[in-house]
Amino acid sequence: MSRLLLSILLLGFCFSALAQDYDQRFARADVLHYKFEIGVYGNFHYGYNAAHITTFFKTNTDSLTLDFVKSNKSGSSSIKKVEIDGNICEYIWIKDKLTLIFPTVKAGETHTISVYYSFGSDDGLIIALNRFNKNTAFADNWPNRARHWIPTIDHPGDKATVEFLVNVPSNLDVIANGKLQSVTKLEKTRSLWHYKTDYPLPTKVMVIGVADFETQVIGNFDGTEVSTWVFADNSKNGFADYNVASEPLVYFNKLIGPYPFDKLANVQSKTRYGGMENASAIFYAENTVTGKGRLESLFAHEIAHQWFGNSVSESNWYHVWLSEGFATYLENCYMGFKFGTDSFNYCMKYDGNLVRNFNNRVQKPVIDTTITDYEELLNPNSYQKGAWFLHMLRKQVGDSLFWLSVRKFYDTYKFANADTRMFKEVVETQTGRKLDNFFNCWLYKPGLPRISTAFQSMGDSIKITIIQEQNADAFEFKLDVRLKFLNDVFADYTFDIKEKFEVFFIKNNQQPLELIADPNGWLLRE
Ligand SMILES: [Zn+2]
Repeated sequence: MSRLLLSILLLGFCFSALAQDYDQRFARADVLHYKFEIGVYGNFHYGYNAAHITTFFKTNTDSLTLDFVKSNKSGSSSIKKVEIDGNICEYIWIKDKLTLIFPTVKAGETHTISVYYSFGSDDGLIIALNRFNKNTAFADNWPNRARHWIPTIDHPGDKATVEFLVNVPSNLDVIANGKLQSVTKLEKTRSLWHYKTDYPLPTKVMVIGVADFETQVIGNFDGTEVSTWVFADNSKNGFADYNVASEPLVYFNKLIGPYPFDKLANVQSKTRYGGMENASAIFYAENTVTGKGRLESLFAHEIAHQWFGNSVSESNWYHVWLSEGFATYLENCYMGFKFGTDSFNYCMKYDGNLVRNFNNRVQKPVIDTTITDYEELLNPNSYQKGAWFLHMLRKQVGDSLFWLSVRKFYDTYKFANADTRMFKEVVETQTGRKLDNFFNCWLYKPGLPRISTAFQSMGDSIKITIIQEQNADAFEFKLDVRLKFLNDVFADYTFDIKEKFEVFFIKNNQQPLELIADPNGWLLRE
């Protein structure tokens, strides 16, 4: 090994060591506000952009690491200069970590970091032709892809207010989070669109969308303007298809609490997901516009995320079920409200099958801290098992205490972050019950219960045996049991199950013909 190579390696090691992990960053700083200036030029060639990051410092420090991708297969980004409070500062940029080095700032001070940059990656902000061969650009940040196009602390745990100034050709329109402040004609052919939120968001849902849109205001519901943004070439179908947004909004307003944001725009886009719940400007896949409607469940899901995911955000990616599980369950509740109980039951049954199929292949818990590629968290554990967990919790504590707990959880952590323990503590406080074991077996351990039952008439009583046959530890749940007697007479009982082998005696001198376990579908099992 040559000395030159060794010193390069050592240098690389020192630089890498300098980049701070998230815990280190959270200990030293809190981003309060992002102001991004983004320019769209010519044939969607991007010029220099700027990020102004208002940061509160918690400790005396002389450096801070941001997430910003230097290059990937598709291209390289570049930095023109970095400043703190308008003064040039040094930086070290390796892979996706941009560490700024500046004269020491003191604990309790707020400073503005500015990064002047261009980005060359094809990820994060997706620049692509739409299905009508028209230029579009749509941010698609989940789970941690904001770093491809905007320098940020790209972690759901550091929320900040955000402001976008987007400079585009005048024939294009811009949608972004928050309130539209102004559209300014800059010169003959260019416009500057200015959006701003006065509520903090996680970076995963900070977005802009640029396209030739047609827009329609559906109306004002409980004080929130609901609008449709679709490609001009399919606006007639788009307006019809997207006209389903107001009902879920009104439903969740009543069920959870007031809608957290200043507008609700539903946007046809190029997101890689079927829908992406970007705060106050939800992006849907472009093929959702068909002219055939049937978007109720998708819209309900993404709109539910405005409360859970966007307003109450998971503290880190591993607790994403607090976003996806809640959105999935609320989507099903809305389907039940809109189309009746059969629809709700159908959705839950469908979701249960997805969990069972996944469980047959993968033995992992809902909260799986072994995952390093966060895209893998978009699995049936986070969505459908999360939804089923809420359904079983509802059975466990009863309807009114369940919804009281959900509302209290939302109200306590709105515009902030929460993890699973915080949710558990809210439910425990509201219900007066200890729920460690219930949360533990369903969320922190893999698998599902496999139950078998038996009954035996014993004179004036009936003995009921319930066995959990899975290899894993016992699950805790409430189990409804229906006994069928002669002449189609039925009797229903509910048992608290905690052990793998449980025996109950019921005062009843009739001879049962049949035992039906969980007749109303409250238990997720193999
Ligand atoms: Zn979702």
